[in-house]
Amino acid sequence: MLEDKKQPKTALNNLGEFGLIDYLTQNFKIKKTSTIKGIGDDAAVLEFKTKQLVVTTDLLIEGIHFDLSYVPLKHLGYKSVIVNLSDVYAMNAVATQITVSIAVSNRFPLEALEELYAGIEMASKIYDIDVIGGDTSSSNTGLLISITAIGEVDAKKVVYRNGAKPNDLLVVSGDLGAAYMGLQILEREKEVYKVNPNNQPDLEPYTYIVERQLKPEARNDIIKLLSDLEVHPTAMIDISDGLSSEIMHLCKQSNVGCDLYEEKIPLDPQVISTCEEFKIDATTVALNGGEDYELLFTIPQTDYPKIKANPNLTVIGYIKEETEGMHLITRGELKIPIKAQGWKNFND
Ligand code: ADP
Ligand code: MG
Repeated sequence: MLEDKKQPKTALNNLGEFGLIDYLTQNFKIKKTSTIKGIGDDAAVLEFKTKQLVVTTDLLIEGIHFDLSYVPLKHLGYKSVIVNLSDVYAMNAVATQITVSIAVSNRFPLEALEELYAGIEMASKIYDIDVIGGDTSSSNTGLLISITAIGEVDAKKVVYRNGAKPNDLLVVSGDLGAAYMGLQILEREKEVYKVNPNNQPDLEPYTYIVERQLKPEARNDIIKLLSDLEVHPTAMIDISDGLSSEIMHLCKQSNVGCDLYEEKIPLDPQVISTCEEFKIDATTVALNGGEDYELLFTIPQTDYPKIKANPNLTVIGYIKEETEGMHLITRGELKIPIKAQGWKNFND
């Protein structure tokens, strides 16, 4: 909640644009050897020597991508960084720098932006990246955040979406559907709060799924694990929109089909119990819910022994010839075509 802690608030126009930028960026220290110049000049200067660069950007808009009535600003700052880093890791790259641009209305006091930047700073520490610049503007309506992430990768290690081959194994990290169910809980509590603001929500039974929604992590640990195991994925994508649409992107770009096994899809027990409570099918949630930020990738069958003992990785299916199509094999052994259904259209 956008809490009023009864502390005096500092209006943004007291600081001016440059005062605000200086204030918000005062804690950012340069750590990466590839950062030659960070914040403070007309442009940052980077040097990557022998590596290839990956660059990715995301735009987050209040009311469309986030709802400040239940997303604390610190979490929002953290998550804004994570969603970008996840795209860098999906290229099998190491994230090194970000830029942060914000547009903000006068409704936000300095203290609110401080919270946002505390989240950004926390993520940049944990994921070992430099914040090297950005832009700051006022906005007539709400808050807008645009982050660009930069990463580095050896030319021969970069992994695209388009390299999957028939007979490859389809592998996913972590578990799926939790962020979507966390959102259902937060939306429900928001409605309860509207009716009775004194009602303290009991989120205890839902801590894992709510955390997956509010404070997701990006899987740089998986990139490191694959490197340590000497597994080189043939194709990879991060799961931001739900398993089914990501599988379809990967298969279409690789000109292949696939069989995905329902019984193999990794689900946390809290997802299963919350789905029962909401009377939603957990498989549907894993396929169409979004914002899990796990990695989906394909590996040759010969690499299976290297990954099979790892609890963070689950084989969920096989790559097939393109002519065989993309199918979900249900627990009842029905074979049904996989359809894309981004989570925003999710209204099952
Ligand atoms: P310019 O006029 O060239 O756009 P600014 O005055 O906007 O420069 O920015 C000054 C410096 O502060 C630049 O290095 C810029 O990248 C950085 N910067 C501006 N806004 C932000 C922000 N919201 N977060 C991080 N760095 C920022
Ligand atoms: Mg500027």
